[in-house]
Amino acid sequence: MYPQLLTYLLEFIKYQDQIIRTLQTLLVGKNMFEKPAEEPVNKPYRKLQIDELPIIETLKKLDYTILLKEYLEEHDRPLKPVQRRSNSKVTVPKTTNCPQCGAPADYLYTNNGNKGQFLCKVCSCLFSDKNRFSKEAVLKCPHCAKSLERIKERKDFSVYKCKNNDCSYYQKKVKAMSKKEKKRFKKDPQAFKVRYIFRQFHIDFLPLSKQSPELPRVNLSKIHASPHTLGLILTYHVNYGLSARKTAAIMQDVHGVAISHQTILNYENSVALLLKPYVDHYPYELSDQFCGDETYIRVNGKWNYLFFFFDAIKKIILSYPVSPNRDTVTAIHAIDEVLVKMKEIPEDLTFVVDGNPIYLLAQHFFAQHGISFDVKQVIGLTNEDPVSTEFRPLKQIIERLNRTFKANYRSTHGFGSDKGSVSYVTLFVSYFNFLRPHASLEGKVPVVNPSLSGLPTMPARWTKLIELAQQWIVKQRLA
Ligand SMILES: [Zn+2]
Ligand SMILES: [Zn+2]
Repeated sequence: MYPQLLTYLLEFIKYQDQIIRTLQTLLVGKNMFEKPAEEPVNKPYRKLQIDELPIIETLKKLDYTILLKEYLEEHDRPLKPVQRRSNSKVTVPKTTNCPQCGAPADYLYTNNGNKGQFLCKVCSCLFSDKNRFSKEAVLKCPHCAKSLERIKERKDFSVYKCKNNDCSYYQKKVKAMSKKEKKRFKKDPQAFKVRYIFRQFHIDFLPLSKQSPELPRVNLSKIHASPHTLGLILTYHVNYGLSARKTAAIMQDVHGVAISHQTILNYENSVALLLKPYVDHYPYELSDQFCGDETYIRVNGKWNYLFFFFDAIKKIILSYPVSPNRDTVTAIHAIDEVLVKMKEIPEDLTFVVDGNPIYLLAQHFFAQHGISFDVKQVIGLTNEDPVSTEFRPLKQIIERLNRTFKANYRSTHGFGSDKGSVSYVTLFVSYFNFLRPHASLEGKVPVVNPSLSGLPTMPARWTKLIELAQQWIVKQRLA
């Protein structure tokens, strides 16, 4: 009798608990009981098929100086620049000019307040930043040479489509469908990609614009620890991936140095700021094979993406942006960080990445700026396609790098701040490129520097690396 009653009571408690949860959820409006996922949900990305570039025909341009002359001849008076009331809040940026006739800002009306639409007084062209391109060029389908139609506006790009039913691209796609697919296509044409599509980016970013290094004003004299102590701290925390707390404990228990874990993080932040320009502007010797991958790290309790791009042959990490988004803009920035480090863009430049379409969009973005490279996507866990089979070893190299990073980073329990996360990543990259011996490089470090490798211990090498970075910064300041 007893056990049965107990079972019943337990069931009843469970039932009550369920009711309480349901009521509370209704009351608060969200589920309070689901624990946040330990790992970010790996949403499969929608398969995105990216077509080749369109034919770009630049339009015949008008010349505003000729138009102004014609106006003068016709009206016996010159066309005056736009009169703007002195109290007007509406302004035209000085660098803006008419895409059709080249008239300067003085001749441009702001058409709808400050919303970025302009009207040219000289040639009546109506334009905005978003459609500016279409006033300068016509995009044509590479399969049928008909003009493309703009069909959608996305945050970072406009979508163009070839709507020509006689287009060979369209015809081929429809012909290739099975009977079943054709039936579905008739009902739901949106479910199939049968037409040529092109994305025109309007991201405000110019590739390969080399920036002079941002030289930090870091005062290492604020570090009240000997260089050797600092070297020990970096070795434990970065090389061996011990947490800051464990590092502090080892410093006390083994080396008799009293230091708090917070002080360790503060010191490391200063060191990272100092090392970053050196690591980012180092004249690396590179190959033409690169791979990229994203991994997630926790920053301020939120999942962020860390993009690693890395020379697959030389084992050098070239790019490591941290972003809350796994988007095309970040992919573009990550690839650009690699490109700026090249003396010239190699002819057979290849990036091996995962199946995320952001890399194809990034490839298109660069192609639109005259920079071309190959993107090989290694998809899924099995070798389903020949590309995956051929390039999987490269992909595995970067996956190994990600694992190495995560093993070291795990102990940090996520980063409390953006600054902290970037600092740790910078230190890890410094370690990886300059200090960490690599089995596939015959036990050598990726960037061989005799003044580092000649030193007997890791703390001494860290100290030397910091010194090299300091000397480099001083040299940059004098230059
Ligand atoms: Zn104009
Ligand atoms: Zn076409």
